[in-house]
Amino acid sequence: MDKDSLVMNKAFRAMLLGLEDVLGKPGIAAILRQAGLAQYIDNYPPSDTERGGQRLSDVGKINHALFEIYGPRGSRAIMQRVGRGQAKFGLQENAAVANAAKLAMKLLPRRNKAKLALDTAAKAVNEQLDTHVTISEDAQYLYYEAWNCAYCKGWTNDAPVCYAVAGFVHGIVAWALDSDDFQVQEISCRAKGDEVCKFRVGLNA
Ligand SMILES: [Zn+2]
Repeated sequence: MDKDSLVMNKAFRAMLLGLEDVLGKPGIAAILRQAGLAQYIDNYPPSDTERGGQRLSDVGKINHALFEIYGPRGSRAIMQRVGRGQAKFGLQENAAVANAAKLAMKLLPRRNKAKLALDTAAKAVNEQLDTHVTISEDAQYLYYEAWNCAYCKGWTNDAPVCYAVAGFVHGIVAWALDSDDFQVQEISCRAKGDEVCKFRVGLNA
């Protein structure tokens, strides 16, 4: 679970585009410098399926740099937006899969729509980040479980830090439901010593 996998170019690119969308060019340059990843300034990986050398821990370094520069509250707002942007870019970059899923879920109830979208997203994330995400559910909630989460890789904190993943889950479910009427919360995080970064999706009704 702890392997520091190589991330597919287009997935790393989607994260950088999401950050740039929120922070602008100067903002992302400052973050990349702080993270020790200045080689990516104005030099994002191409939108392809190669693995150009960027690792899960590089994602963790970027998230940690955001905490250092913007503080927990600032980085929370930024990373939630980045995560939603990642969902948006991810859906665009994987348009064929996304369109097929959207068509398949057309007549399903809300909960099944959300579940199918999360299953599809988890599969794409596992493939492109070479990580391990599972989706589970109980009577009340759906759960997105990141067993080898990139965002907290290599650092610790006393509260959950993987807001980008919460934003990503939010973006995927909002896309599936065409609605923002639900809640996503990170209920355990590897940064604070939990076994898994776990995100709870509560659908209203
Ligand atoms: Zn995490």
